[in-house]
Amino acid sequence: MTQQISTEPIIELRHVDKHYGDLHVLKDINLTVHKGEVLVVVGPSGSGKSTMCRTVNRLETIDSGEILIEGEPLPQEGRELTRMRAELGMVFQSFNLFAHMSILQNVTLGPIEVLGMKKDEAEARAMELLARVGVAEQAAKSPAQLSGGQQQRAAIARSLAMHPKAMMFDEPTSALDPEMINEVLDVMVELARGGMTMVVVTHEMNFARRVADRVVFMADGQIVEEGTPAEFFDHPKTQRARDFLDSIK
Ligand code: ADP
Ligand code: MG
Repeated sequence: MTQQISTEPIIELRHVDKHYGDLHVLKDINLTVHKGEVLVVVGPSGSGKSTMCRTVNRLETIDSGEILIEGEPLPQEGRELTRMRAELGMVFQSFNLFAHMSILQNVTLGPIEVLGMKKDEAEARAMELLARVGVAEQAAKSPAQLSGGQQQRAAIARSLAMHPKAMMFDEPTSALDPEMINEVLDVMVELARGGMTMVVVTHEMNFARRVADRVVFMADGQIVEEGTPAEFFDHPKTQRARDFLDSIK
């Protein structure tokens, strides 16, 4: 979908390995996401997709290898880590809004606390973003008063308020009722069109076909295949990918 992808790497994983006890959950993962690129990650449940996303934000540590954000190693802790996390927007399956705050407060919290923005400025910007994702009218409500689709769109607005360098989506529509899936995917399509660098773990294959610049297929902790959507969906190279594609038809 992206008209022009730069050669500037935003996220790089180099020889990343991770275990959970005896489980080798990430096996020599090598992946580069370039500025403006939309990378869709697919694969069977348990293949390590979420773990990989979480390592990029250092929500999970790695055993070996390197993760670079704009060419710089991931900060280990402290202020630098907080800032870096803010710069990589993360949207999860469960909406993760703060339940005791209004939608508006959810969106202004990071800009005020982390970016040091003034309250009025943060609120004005938040209202623009809420309008952009179609939930401006819900700004004063608490998350529980919104539908799942509205909550997920508000969560996207909250991430965008931090001016992220890239957005990571981990199955953002998996917990939604079917009629709400498209309203969230539409927001993501618009973001992609606007040139946002995106990593999207999803089972929405129509979205992947339409929006991905590149599809990565993971199985058993490894990147088994990668290619354009046409290459991957129409001409999968491995039996594992063919089996996976058959299983989701
Ligand atoms: P996916 O997102 O592709 O479904 P995950 O990254 O969630 O896969 O999980 C990969 C594997 O790691 C699974 O076998 C899962 O049970 C295991 N796993 C995930 N998180 C943990 C954890 N915190 N502790 C132990 N095992 C985990
Ligand atoms: Mg997962």
